[in-house]
Amino acid sequence: TPSLERLVFDNRFTRELPADPHSHNQRRLVTGACFSRVSPQPATAPRLIAFSREVAALLDLSEADCRSEVFTQVFAGNRLLPGMDPHATCYGGHQFGVWAGQLGDGRAINLGEVVNAHGERWILQLKGAGPTPYSREADGFAVLRSSLREFLCSEAMHHLRVPTTRALSLVLSGKQVMRDMFYDGRPALEPGAIVCRVAPSFTRFGHFEILAAHQNTRLLRQLLDYTIRTDFPHLGEASQQTYIAWFEEVCRRTLTMVVHWMRVGFVHGVMNTDNMSVLGQTIDYGPYGWLEGYDPDWTPNTTDAVGRRYRFEQQPQVALWNLTQLANAILPVVGQVEPLQQAIANYAKEYGPAWLAMMASKLGLSQVDPARDKPLIDELLEVLQLLETDLTLFYRNLARLSPAGAGAHEVSDAALLEPLLPAYYAPEALTGEHRARTTAWLRRYLERLGAESADDAKARRRRMNRVNPKYVLRNYLAQLAIDQCEQGDYALLHELLELLRHPYDEQPDKEQFAAKRPEWARQRAGCSMLSCSS
Ligand code: AMP
Ligand code: MG
Ligand code: MG
Repeated sequence: TPSLERLVFDNRFTRELPADPHSHNQRRLVTGACFSRVSPQPATAPRLIAFSREVAALLDLSEADCRSEVFTQVFAGNRLLPGMDPHATCYGGHQFGVWAGQLGDGRAINLGEVVNAHGERWILQLKGAGPTPYSREADGFAVLRSSLREFLCSEAMHHLRVPTTRALSLVLSGKQVMRDMFYDGRPALEPGAIVCRVAPSFTRFGHFEILAAHQNTRLLRQLLDYTIRTDFPHLGEASQQTYIAWFEEVCRRTLTMVVHWMRVGFVHGVMNTDNMSVLGQTIDYGPYGWLEGYDPDWTPNTTDAVGRRYRFEQQPQVALWNLTQLANAILPVVGQVEPLQQAIANYAKEYGPAWLAMMASKLGLSQVDPARDKPLIDELLEVLQLLETDLTLFYRNLARLSPAGAGAHEVSDAALLEPLLPAYYAPEALTGEHRARTTAWLRRYLERLGAESADDAKARRRRMNRVNPKYVLRNYLAQLAIDQCEQGDYALLHELLELLRHPYDEQPDKEQFAAKRPEWARQRAGCSMLSCSS
């Protein structure tokens, strides 16, 4: 019989770090503590609408466990398992470049830390289970559309091999939640939902920033020591050297994460320091979006429409700015500025080569020579902006180009362009200058492929198809699933969850989900424009 009672909890965070002395859910400022004990608000009519079997497996839960009534009750926030210790954590952050003071888990509640049969540890966190001391003026709930987007996208990102927090479950609460629908300005009731997020830790840059802002160096050191001991045990005993090594590792992990975002065309949308995990995992799926037509200035976040701080192309620089805030925060404990500055400088130095290596892998190049390949890639990014060009389809179809043993010059322009036409939103506009520049780039690319040693087209295609996904969670696909779920039909949600488990594979009966965004989705809210508060 399914039983969740065998889950083993070992809650190091609440055991080893200081608690807020009050344990009620009322909003308040918290000082001298890392978390507050809280109670999730019970859901009136919980209904499980999706779960991730891979995440369940991480917790040693079977599909039968997930389909049990107790699973729904637990992950709706209606029932606690023995060993759980529900709490919300205290953090601050820089939002849009400005210090925002105390933020904290305003609608997230950590249930506890599970230790699985392999000794791996996973924190279970409900998102949308009601107010906490950190809810400020908001309600602590989440609506179905934002919860579905978080649930599907975190699993999709995992399968794309992008470091990310995970999602175990998506439960309808039965509650109606009031939201200001940003596109018509009228408040509306929407179905409430709860996601259970899962990660080894949810510690953010902002957890350190709030303690630095309170000038609580003692607790800052305690949290840093705790983080190193639990999440970075390979760094060894805490010391000045270890703190520096820790910051260097956070820099490296953050860099790796951002390079992955740039690889798959993901725009986080709200890269505030409170949304940056020290593990270098993508966290807080809010107004994120996927690039459709390649536009380096695009951001899905309507709140950021003017400054475009969090646009696609700026993500590496913003991550660096955020790392600088983290360095400032831990400085009182580290005591030396220079090694922190050095780590920041290393990020700036290492990003370019890491990005170039990633871009070369998208082109199927096995050896990268910056002097030769950087100009090739720069020109490609120009060519992609001549006409609206679907990023995902372009790279995926580029693998279909054959270097033609006969010599690139003998291939006609039309034949050269043919595999790429599906990537253009208006292929009939690919004429004149644009067409000439595009085909010139393709010929240059083919020539470059000729310089690859012992290349065989098939091996290259296979390599490219492992880094250029065929299926991503296109903005309009998520919206279609939301529309259906709001009508009580969960089929598309399940179909997308299944599809996105294998984003690099050809799935011949699922071609429709690889198609570029349809015209109707261009201006439709939810498909390309989102607000933070959703
Ligand atoms: P975000 O923009 O999602 O990173 O959220 C920024 C801050 O607002 C965090 O402290 C969140 O916990 C809080 N927050 C966002 N939405 C809500 C909500 N509906 N209820 C309570 N707190 C929220
Ligand atoms: Mg957040
Ligand atoms: Mg959010």
